[in-house]
Amino acid sequence: MTHAEFLHMFLKPFLPKVVPVLPGLRALRSVGGFMTRSRLRFGLLLIVILVLAQAPPQPTRGGESLQTSSAGEPAEKHPIHTMPYSPSLDLTSMDHTADPCVDFYQYVCGGWMKNNPIPPDQAGWSVYAKLADENDQFLWGILEEASDASRPRNASEQKIGDLFQACMDEPAIEKLGAAPLEPGLHEIAALTSKSELAGYLGHEHMNARGGSAVFGFGSAQDFEDASQVIAFARAGGLGLPDRDYYTKTDPRSQTIRDQYIVHVQRMFVLLRDSPANAATEAQTVISIETALAQKSLTRVEKRNPHNLLHKMDRAQLKAITPDFDWDAYLTGIGLGSVQKFNVTEPEFYREVNSLIQSESLDDWKTYLRWHLAHAWAPYLSTSFQEENFDFYSHKLRGVAVMEPRWKRCVRLVDRNLGEALGQVFVARTFGPDIKARTLKMTREIEAAMEDDLKNLPWMSPETKQQALEKLHSIVNKIGYPDKWRDYSSLEIVRGDFAGSIRRSAVFESKRQLAKIGKPVDRGEWGMTPPTVNAYYDSQTNDINFPAGVLQPPLFDPKEDDAPNYGNTGGTIGHELTHGFDDEGRLFDGKGNLRDWWTKEDAAQFDERIACVREQYAGYVVVDDIHINSKLTSGEDVADLGGTLLAYIAWKKATEAQKMMSIDGFTPDQRFFIGYAQWACENERPENLRMHAMTDPHSPGRYRVNGIVSDLPQFQRAFGCKAGQPMVRAKLCRVW
Ligand SMILES: [Zn+2]
Repeated sequence: MTHAEFLHMFLKPFLPKVVPVLPGLRALRSVGGFMTRSRLRFGLLLIVILVLAQAPPQPTRGGESLQTSSAGEPAEKHPIHTMPYSPSLDLTSMDHTADPCVDFYQYVCGGWMKNNPIPPDQAGWSVYAKLADENDQFLWGILEEASDASRPRNASEQKIGDLFQACMDEPAIEKLGAAPLEPGLHEIAALTSKSELAGYLGHEHMNARGGSAVFGFGSAQDFEDASQVIAFARAGGLGLPDRDYYTKTDPRSQTIRDQYIVHVQRMFVLLRDSPANAATEAQTVISIETALAQKSLTRVEKRNPHNLLHKMDRAQLKAITPDFDWDAYLTGIGLGSVQKFNVTEPEFYREVNSLIQSESLDDWKTYLRWHLAHAWAPYLSTSFQEENFDFYSHKLRGVAVMEPRWKRCVRLVDRNLGEALGQVFVARTFGPDIKARTLKMTREIEAAMEDDLKNLPWMSPETKQQALEKLHSIVNKIGYPDKWRDYSSLEIVRGDFAGSIRRSAVFESKRQLAKIGKPVDRGEWGMTPPTVNAYYDSQTNDINFPAGVLQPPLFDPKEDDAPNYGNTGGTIGHELTHGFDDEGRLFDGKGNLRDWWTKEDAAQFDERIACVREQYAGYVVVDDIHINSKLTSGEDVADLGGTLLAYIAWKKATEAQKMMSIDGFTPDQRFFIGYAQWACENERPENLRMHAMTDPHSPGRYRVNGIVSDLPQFQRAFGCKAGQPMVRAKLCRVW
């Protein structure tokens, strides 16, 4: 992963299953499921590709009017060969009985929320999730064709088609049962002393069979030298989605922990341990994981990259973990000669060392067996898949039924061979005209930011100069990479699901580790082309818009500029602003972690951030849980700045046009309706509770109402008056 740490996406982060939590890519929204498609690749960790997502592409967050259908089967779907069309400004999605100055989100999304109940196999549903679902059906059509071995296929089609075929072959997977776990289980059983743990883990992480057992290890861009990739040793080793699940004492967290212990116990029973032994083993697992969690940083602490910067040489690394044989570990993952490391959380590694001293070899073996089974569960027979689903999707996120096999297999191919699948996707969906139009819009929004920066009343000329340099260095990546990834060394075998998955995992591990000691590849993408999402990466200082996110209803070539600048323009502005949010501002234009602010300007900035934090801390996510605005402030600031920049750019781009009202809405009103309709969503309360803990994005309702209530441009467009809910007495503005 090059830039995993500070890549930021617009979407909400996926629920990490085995991936340690990172201050992440900053995307538009995050995509649901256990694994972040997007993160994988930055994924430092050797492991991540292992997990077959079981949850939806994008969880959404609704407000009060949740529509859930908690029973029944998901609607039957078929492969499709053309994408269905929905307009970027949809009158049927609105609630015309609502007052835009009282609750703008209800006004623009009320109809959508009513018309789009959450499917039973999803934790939430949204405009983004719906598009991603249609995209999956379209990819299904591509993969079904590619899996037909009787027709002539090129090398890419052979790989994506055969992996899809292997994944869909349920009888073969069922017949194997837990057999794919056996080599790993034997290795664990053969350990005779704690000194052998390191060698096992090295091999294990390389072969990607055990998830991030104990810790995570991989490659990433050096915080201090943006041109180089170095080795990163991170915290990890947990089975729950966040360290807070182990430390919180409220009743809901206690219930989740109890359910988790039962889940771990059941997994040991599936490995044929007796129920009594399994119960003891589950206690062992939770006790080791709790100790690791207590020494892991919180998500808020990890938003500050300075907290994650601890360069060490090999001797220093050995000194903080004297009981862990790093030479054996590094040889195991094929990095025998690497000397330089960034240890993101040294306290965590000290804890690993004391646990090696205090826990018995048998207890460590128990912990490793759990993580092995946990990482492989989605690829094994039905009993493993169902147990895995029951805890991670049903109990944790409120999902009623498992997603259909085809969908999980489409995602699996996208995660493992995304740039092979992406080539076919791009050829069928993404024309040069869309690329040209989006690029033009991006440049206009960058120009709007330049004007905005030059005229900022609170920033000194010195800091402005640096900010402009950073802005001018931003690289715009639109649609798909210039150079496609070469998968030729990866062997995918029809009918061999477990083997193909294992080889894909090793391929990705090697690809990531091979970057260590080399210059950063700035052409690399952190999302696959079909992904319905976008991100900004502070360390490479680029914004990335995959072809998947540049489709209706998000970017709609049939509509006029107003809703398109509101929606896609707002997203471009959002990503751009991430370079200058409370986290992004810590990096310079080259991507180095370097303070380029004068003290006074930094203080002015912090004051403005405090305004946004105070505003969002007042919003309720679900029950009595408020937004953790120290976690969401980067996204909230990006939403606020991004919308304003898109508005300014749109005004400028259309100043010579005579714009008329359409359907009774003025151009300004259509800009704001188009802006807000990306965010329509419904979400299950369980999922909302989880997101309140793990998601750096605010719920959709506040991503709309929080923004417009700070914008006089909106208030004028709808004639809102002082004292109405969409007109805040104290307006926040950063950029
Ligand atoms: Zn974002």
